[in-house]
Amino acid sequence: AGYRRVNRLFAQKLLPLLKPEDLVWVHDYHLIPLAAELRALGCGNRIGFFLHIPMPPRLIMAAIPEQEWLMRSLFAYDLVGFQSETDVTHFSHYIEAEAQAEQLSPERFRAFNRTLRVGAYPIGIDVDDFVRLTQAKEGRETFLRMREEYARRRLLLGVDRLDYSKGLPQRVQAFRALLERYPENRNSATLIQIASPSREDVSAYDDLRRQMDSLCGAINGDYGELDWMPVRYIHRNVARRRLPGLYRASRVALVTPLRDGMNLVAKEFIAAQDPADPGMLVLSRFAGAAEQLKEALLVNPYDTQGTAEAIQRALTMPLEERIRRHEALLSRIRKLDVHWWCSSFLQALKHVEQDVTG
Ligand code: UDP
Repeated sequence: AGYRRVNRLFAQKLLPLLKPEDLVWVHDYHLIPLAAELRALGCGNRIGFFLHIPMPPRLIMAAIPEQEWLMRSLFAYDLVGFQSETDVTHFSHYIEAEAQAEQLSPERFRAFNRTLRVGAYPIGIDVDDFVRLTQAKEGRETFLRMREEYARRRLLLGVDRLDYSKGLPQRVQAFRALLERYPENRNSATLIQIASPSREDVSAYDDLRRQMDSLCGAINGDYGELDWMPVRYIHRNVARRRLPGLYRASRVALVTPLRDGMNLVAKEFIAAQDPADPGMLVLSRFAGAAEQLKEALLVNPYDTQGTAEAIQRALTMPLEERIRRHEALLSRIRKLDVHWWCSSFLQALKHVEQDVTG
């Protein structure tokens, strides 16, 4: 009821501000019913929606008690965009099975007396801006300081919100398996895990925090030396302008969420690398980014041993192979950057065939 009330209020406040030719672009699951509320008030503008999180498979979506209302609400939009083709497939299977939607063309569906266009618009980063940030004073300072501090070590890096979708305990277990299975990494490989505080008032997050404290403490206790701590676990936010230097000083990035809409850290890591000696990305196949970043080392984060093997492969990958993979990754994130994302969605919205019957 609260969700509906907020969306209705949002629509009431927005409507008087709209001019007839305005495009409206609504973002994320908090606002799914907004278009339906606007339509109920007589709004005829083109309205698009972008879902930043993954679209669940059909039967998981169908488990939501108010699913039919949510699905009908989505059909009040003219265009619905998703992060990946997998999300589009989940959505089309779902509406075909649960709402008997009719597919009019590869991107157009009809249900609830309305026609809807859907598509994959993977979100990107501002690559040029990130490269500039890497070369800016603070980016360079951070890089040089990290390089000096870890001159005798090989740095692995994780940067996430402390969130159960990010696979943090699984990642730390995989790092432990790496030390166990490939002892040459002891006294050398160091994992810096930034876990920025998130939703601290929710008790599940507190449990995760305690679990991480205990896992990291155990590795440091079991494997640490007087002059080497295997894991540096930092439960604080790191300023955005410092991140590029940290990325660039790292040999391997561990981006291993259990599930993620896209994951921008993966793209930022690629953008910050030195093209002549790039670090390697270990990426969960369950991040939306995996559909685009095939030259990363893709892993199943639930598979501890498999992830440890991939980390070892990343640490020992020859320079030529790292350069070849990085070139392909960089050119893709540059082509499909945040400006492409924004303009391709808005162009599609502008030209969408509008349904005036519903
Ligand atoms: N980030 C940051 N400081 C931190 C941790 C994360 O600035 O300490 C930024 C990071 O650079 C990225 C964003 O937060 O741009 C996280 O986006 P992502 O898509 O990876 O995950 P989300 O948090 O949206 O699930």
